[in-house]
Amino acid sequence: MSASELPDLIPLDEAQRRVLDGVVPLPSVHVDLADAAGLVLAAPVRSPLTVPSWSNSAMDGFAVVSADVAGAGTAAPVVMRVLGEVPAGRAPDAAVTPGTALRIMTGAMMPPGADAVVPVEDTDASPGASALPTTVAIRAPARAGDNVRAAGTDVREGAHLLDRGRACDPAAIALLAATGIARVEVHRRPRVAVISTGDELVPPGEPLGPAQIHDANSLSLAAQAAETGAEVRRLGIARDTLDSLLSLVREAVAWADVVILSGGVSVGAHDHVKAAFESVGELSLWRVAIKPGRPFAFARATFDGRPVHLFGLPGNPVSVFITFELFVRPVIRTLAGHPRAFGRPVRIVRLGERMRGSGGRQNIHRVVLERDPERPDGLVARSSGGQDSYMLASLAAANGLVFLPPDADLPAGSEAVAWELRERDA
Ligand code: AMP
Ligand code: MG
Repeated sequence: MSASELPDLIPLDEAQRRVLDGVVPLPSVHVDLADAAGLVLAAPVRSPLTVPSWSNSAMDGFAVVSADVAGAGTAAPVVMRVLGEVPAGRAPDAAVTPGTALRIMTGAMMPPGADAVVPVEDTDASPGASALPTTVAIRAPARAGDNVRAAGTDVREGAHLLDRGRACDPAAIALLAATGIARVEVHRRPRVAVISTGDELVPPGEPLGPAQIHDANSLSLAAQAAETGAEVRRLGIARDTLDSLLSLVREAVAWADVVILSGGVSVGAHDHVKAAFESVGELSLWRVAIKPGRPFAFARATFDGRPVHLFGLPGNPVSVFITFELFVRPVIRTLAGHPRAFGRPVRIVRLGERMRGSGGRQNIHRVVLERDPERPDGLVARSSGGQDSYMLASLAAANGLVFLPPDADLPAGSEAVAWELRERDA
């Protein structure tokens, strides 16, 4: 390709806009709540139930008429006759009347007549005792409603529980389960196929021949896609021929919503990704003004009426990792139904050292983000090591990415935009 044929060089945000343009959430399906973890609700959810459905005790203790014990204290205990017991899961078989009490367990139904529970610790009964006492001395006063979880104080039948677009995280699942919801309408889990390209590649675990390297990209991409919530298939390593590539790309398009290739996308004599994309869909080609990350190919295909998004990422493993973060992850998240395509926490951080960009492009540096000793809520960014796009040790050491404007030369102490990628060590 001659210089005049080079595709447009466009800024990062423009490239992200083009990649996300027209991407919509996958169709909805109904799944068992037990299978819903991580999936995104496709419709708002209302409660079919009032919770608690009936008033119950918040403590192990004695259900009483509060007026009986309004004046109780250690010096003036009030002795009540114990009529029986209400364990969890059994409806009370007696009512509480003035002068009487029922022993009651946490979560057990409040008996008729009682309006408060005196914790066992405020009585002369021994906490773990199994034998039911015939009387109990109450040593602390109680007011109506004390230690009672009144019906409907958590959720009312018909109340709005969760919005469309809410991920089924553990808290959402707890609420849905408690309100008796067994199935939920969610967006289908995105399917992602991963293909590596290159005659030099050997899977880890196999010995390296002369001039061979281990395939890092298909494993890192599969892990990134899985972390994003996708169902992933690794289809293997395509050799540097159009036939080899095309057969894996065709297999991928028949199954996946997103197809990710790495390598073979530049202008080398053995780079066939663009030709493969053109034969299954519509290729969009541009150069993104970021470093690392060029070159980058993108295509849309349709299979059985289903849109398929194809990404041809650069071969260098760090470029692969970063372009997945910048372009592929937001597409997978959008397909999954997340309202925010970019889910990473964005922070304004202070540079702990001078940082320079190069090449007239926005530079994305691998950094270690740590708590800023000078600003309680702030973070300091320091380079995690060598920034060349083949260097994986500094990628694994990084917990964030810093975005430097084109040709920036920022002294220590400057502010910059960063993405947090994972938990910080300190
Ligand atoms: P390419 O774009 O195919 O010319 O690849 C650019 C660089 O990335 C070369 O050094 C490749 O050997 C390397 N590379 C390509 N694919 C992988 C892979 N799956 N794992 C590790 N390195 C790769
Ligand atoms: Mg290659």
